[in-house]
Amino acid sequence: MDILVVLEHKNGTMHRASMEAIAAGQSLARDLGQTVSVLAMGEDTSQMAQEASAKDVMEVLTAEHPLLKDYSADGYAKVLTQVIEAESPKYVIMGHTYMVRDFLPKVSAALRKPLLGDNIAYRIEDGSIIFTKQVFAGKLSADVVPNGDPPYLVTFQSAAFQEDAAAEGNGAAVRPVEVNLESGHISTTSEEPFQETTTTVDLASADVIVSVGRGIGKEENLSMIKALAEALGGQIASSRPVVDAGWLPPYHQVGSSGQTVAPTLYLALGISGAIQHVVGMKGSKNVVVINKDSDAPLFEIADFGVVGDILEIIPKLTEAVKAA
Ligand SMILES: Cc1cc2nc3c(=O)[nH]c(=O)nc-3n(C[C@H](O)[C@H](O)[C@H](O)COP(=O)(O)OP(=O)(O)OC[C@H]3O[C@@H](n4cnc5c(N)ncnc54)[C@H](O)[C@@H]3O)c2cc1C
Repeated sequence: MDILVVLEHKNGTMHRASMEAIAAGQSLARDLGQTVSVLAMGEDTSQMAQEASAKDVMEVLTAEHPLLKDYSADGYAKVLTQVIEAESPKYVIMGHTYMVRDFLPKVSAALRKPLLGDNIAYRIEDGSIIFTKQVFAGKLSADVVPNGDPPYLVTFQSAAFQEDAAAEGNGAAVRPVEVNLESGHISTTSEEPFQETTTTVDLASADVIVSVGRGIGKEENLSMIKALAEALGGQIASSRPVVDAGWLPPYHQVGSSGQTVAPTLYLALGISGAIQHVVGMKGSKNVVVINKDSDAPLFEIADFGVVGDILEIIPKLTEAVKAA
């Protein structure tokens, strides 16, 4: 086997990062002249397998076991290690999610194979593959070349590849693989998935994000951000100073020490564009920046920019959106 993309799911539904991982695997397969297969792990993988088999992949492997119902690093690492040993892929590709960060190092240690994590891109030079990752909070990019014999375990940062770039196929065959898992293999019990809030703030899969920075001035002004987000049907995000000031909870923060997002629309209001913020949102498809300083660095990556006072513009914009 050449390239194996490993999927992640939440209650059976495929994680967006997994569709991006399929796009990454397909891209690698094209550039290296190799084939790409997909692995779905879980108690019941039927929904994920069906979704994956519609993509342009050679085959979809399913590893099912009742002990995979609830996520555990031990269980998932054990099963993936077994599949890699049985199928011998050269590259194992995954999205760089919290879950993958949790269990993939165990696979790397069990196989004694390198884990090249959190890449933003790759390129081929003289037939060799070079991965790129950001270091020093996004200030520098480093080239990483896998050493030794494959398999190489590789993860890509959210939005390094676009999920809609995953090419459709003609219905790949689904092949169940045997899994040897016992309760004694699992030394931890997972609690309920962490729910930060009773209202859903899922920035990673949001289509529209209204993001607010220090330019909003004071906490009371956040009500206008909430009104605009509601009118647009979007989620609220922020830069770090807004979180540091205690105006929004930490899970709203976008950037190197917050979330990485890739919405269709990222509306940045009163955000200067520090690199630590930009690394978390640069994968957005359309970036709209409103800032009173025409030299604000975020304008450099804006698709549409407005130089002006957000405190004046936001209420008018909200009214215009409501009227549209
Ligand atoms: C290790 C480390 C990790 C970090 N991680 C993160 C991170 O994850 N996310 C993050 O965001 N930052 C992070 N930072 C902080 C980052 O360096 C910046 O300080 C931060 O992003 C700046 O936020 P800001 O753009 O809201 O504020 P500022 O840089 O102060 O910019 C405010 C902007 O608002 C504009 N403005 C002011 N008033 C108005 C108005 N009325 N109308 C329109 N525009 C107005 C100003 O012109 C200015 O451009 C990190 C820093 C470090 C050192």
